[in-house]
Amino acid sequence: MPSSAGRLLLLLPTTTYRTEAFVEAATRLGVELVCASERPSTFEALAPDSLLTLDFADPGASAETIAQFAARRSIDAVVPVDDLTTVVAAAISQRLGLKANSLPAVATARDKHAMRRCLAEAGVRVPRFGLLRLADDPAVLARQIDYPCVLKPLALSASRGVIRASDAQEFVAAFHRIAAILESVEARLPDEARRALLVEEFIPGGEVALEGLLIGGTLHVLAIFDKPDPLDGPFFEETIYVTPSRLPQAVQARIAAVSRDACAALGLTEGPIHAELRLNERGPFVLEVAARSIGGLCSRTLTFGTGLTLEELILSHALGRPLESLERERRAAGVMMIPIPRAGRLVSVRGADDAAAVDGVDDVAITMHPGQEVVPLPEGWQYLGFIFARAETPAAVEHALRQAHARLHFAIE
Ligand code: ADP
Repeated sequence: MPSSAGRLLLLLPTTTYRTEAFVEAATRLGVELVCASERPSTFEALAPDSLLTLDFADPGASAETIAQFAARRSIDAVVPVDDLTTVVAAAISQRLGLKANSLPAVATARDKHAMRRCLAEAGVRVPRFGLLRLADDPAVLARQIDYPCVLKPLALSASRGVIRASDAQEFVAAFHRIAAILESVEARLPDEARRALLVEEFIPGGEVALEGLLIGGTLHVLAIFDKPDPLDGPFFEETIYVTPSRLPQAVQARIAAVSRDACAALGLTEGPIHAELRLNERGPFVLEVAARSIGGLCSRTLTFGTGLTLEELILSHALGRPLESLERERRAAGVMMIPIPRAGRLVSVRGADDAAAVDGVDDVAITMHPGQEVVPLPEGWQYLGFIFARAETPAAVEHALRQAHARLHFAIE
């Protein structure tokens, strides 16, 4: 492949859902890929110029490794595909002198407490929050909290370990449960993220997700997704996302404006962002701005211009190529992340063909396999699969997703 097309370093945690979408995008764009993961691939010895192992938990060492690699084979852009690799991507980009988000900006976005502090100081509306030490006595802490509240780890994602507590007893139980989750997390977390957690006021109201692309400090809104299922806890299972939003244009404009303010406050300037906001009469509250694109397989709901995928936009932007269009297709689209109803071992999945036959459904992707242990929230972070739909209206998309889901049967023992 000609190197003039650009050589791009993709940072792929072994746990990510995002590999296929990014690798396919690179192939379509004719981009030469170097893929790095935190565990050695069996093929690495065969392809030392395109497969690397990096310790994502050590951004400095990773940047050094890539700088040495780049002395032999230049790297034109670095793309992190998930939360776990945003900080290391910024460190590598900085070391190579590439245009990208700054390391402090990304590190702030990656730490929920640092993000809250930064946004609150900048006047961006966020829930009231406090940092709790896991070494402290939760029974004592529980007396100082206003209820309902939300407890959460500082650096996990996919709502893992996020728990609502309505009274002191629930608070203590949630505190212990999160401590146990942090003990068992396989990914290497920063020390602080293992020693502390965040407590926040529970913000009632509807929730949206905003998918955006920052170009030279300007946020371009790619899509606003409504989340039609209520997210009231005690665990916050993502299910349906539908775009375009059915909210009034003025509200959508507020959501975009607040997201812009949040990116500016954090200092994020380049590449994808995924923001989550809660809406009520007090206005949009920013729950999170992550310096990455939408998770799971959900990006399949998005196509732009003449059929570009989200990943094609992200890779093109990272390589400094011109972007033909940031306009999403006209039709409504949506996804259901199929939640895990209970813990156990997945025995069988029935009804996938029936579900796929529902009018408007594009695809049903079952991503867990029979025999696999399935873990629901708050400990788990995976989904049974994803249902995708497109239709003329958001309501029709939502209806198709619910109908398809009703046709699926998961036997879990
Ligand atoms: P993650 O990064 O793991 O997704 P978030 O902090 O975004 O964690 O929280 C996950 C979900 O939990 C949010 O999408 C929201 O539904 C709910 N949630 C989190 N914090 C609050 C809060 N302060 N008030 C109400 N709901 C919340």
